[in-house]
Amino acid sequence: MSADSHITAMTPIFPGTVNAAGQRATLGVLGGGQLGRMFVHAAQRLGYFTAVLEPDAQSPAGLVSHHHIQTGYDDPAGLAELAHLCQAITTEFENVPAQALQTLAQTRPVAPGAAVVGIAQNRIEEKAHFVACANVSGVSCAPYAVIETPDQLQAVQDERADLLPGILKTARMGYDGKGQVRVKTVDELAAAWAELGGVACVLEKMLPLTAECSVLVARGWDGQVVSFAPQRNVHVNGILAVTHAYVGNMPPTLATRAREAAVSIAQHLGYVGVLCVEFFVVEDGSEHGGLVVNEMAPRPHNSGHYTIDACDASQFDLQVHAMAGLPLPLPRQHSPAIMLNLLGEVWFDANGQLQEPDWRSVLSLPGTHLHLYGKLEARAGRKMGHLTITGPDVASVETVARRAAGLLDLPGFNAI
Ligand code: ATP
Ligand code: MG
Repeated sequence: MSADSHITAMTPIFPGTVNAAGQRATLGVLGGGQLGRMFVHAAQRLGYFTAVLEPDAQSPAGLVSHHHIQTGYDDPAGLAELAHLCQAITTEFENVPAQALQTLAQTRPVAPGAAVVGIAQNRIEEKAHFVACANVSGVSCAPYAVIETPDQLQAVQDERADLLPGILKTARMGYDGKGQVRVKTVDELAAAWAELGGVACVLEKMLPLTAECSVLVARGWDGQVVSFAPQRNVHVNGILAVTHAYVGNMPPTLATRAREAAVSIAQHLGYVGVLCVEFFVVEDGSEHGGLVVNEMAPRPHNSGHYTIDACDASQFDLQVHAMAGLPLPLPRQHSPAIMLNLLGEVWFDANGQLQEPDWRSVLSLPGTHLHLYGKLEARAGRKMGHLTITGPDVASVETVARRAAGLLDLPGFNAI
């Protein structure tokens, strides 16, 4: 299956140009979150105008874009205006209505396309894709079963005891660990499926993870592919907390396999744009050969934010290049980096009172790069910003990261 393979080339949209209709080269994004904001920053730095379609009046991306179309994601007039303003369009969140991308694609290049976004939005289709390209990618996903009907639940209870203990995950709309229930017995499984409303799910075997990593791949309309080395990720309560991005962050053979697998997954999809593929590293000696593909995000990813400060081309630069039909630069990481996610908790003290984080102390540490997303209200679990630490070597980056984590009381890093 090569969902977008009919498109092989497009006329590049160069920044700073004005077309025959008198329009400045403008790139559009569906969604106004932090990923959209960092995309807008990258596009504007290159000289593009930008347009964001987002219903929220105070969104991170809408606040910094040349144009903000304030409508729902599937509003026909809003979509028509976005298509009118922009020469190419992307999306920044996974659960964007695929129909909206299809509508836009009737008149404009849209990357990634509706078909591949649709696959990534549905764990059942996503896993089927991983299975379909396992021969080429050399990596399989965790053993799983689809549960969409009471009969399938019964069949799993009767015949797939090997999947327990496992994690029941809704096929759609899951993120940051939401829509997931861990189950140990067939009774717990039945209760969990009922708790999730009997919606389409997959039951996935719980694997003994030793680490998690992700790989960012960018692919152009013409099939050119570039990728970053894998970054190692630490999650706390199902949300990314820390990303380790440096040579030696994981065994080199696994890193090479993960990178090659991610590239082949993107190629097999006929993907255009930036794709993030998440992997589990499992205990040695398992049937999976140490590496298992978990899921993919059809967009730049939280675990790739370090590329802004530690690489000569960021994941957002590559998204801009890919969608606009520009050559893709081979990204080079110039500094080891650790990224610390800043969730809403950082804005509250031990008594639950709002407090301004101690930025003076944090920013006086060497190699700290603070990114706040312009969200007006801090809430527990809400991604408010991130802090990337770069330095001359891994040891000094780790030392600063530990100090920063201690100052901000961040989880997921051995704070001192
Ligand atoms: P994201 O925010 O990455 O989209 P998500 O809600 O879609 O997250 P997953 O990536 O499927 O969820 O799972 C969240 C986390 O739960 C994983 O990063 C991993 O730590 C743990 N996890 C998920 N599936 C398994 C599994 N089969 N075995 C062990 N741990 C797992
Ligand atoms: Mg995940």
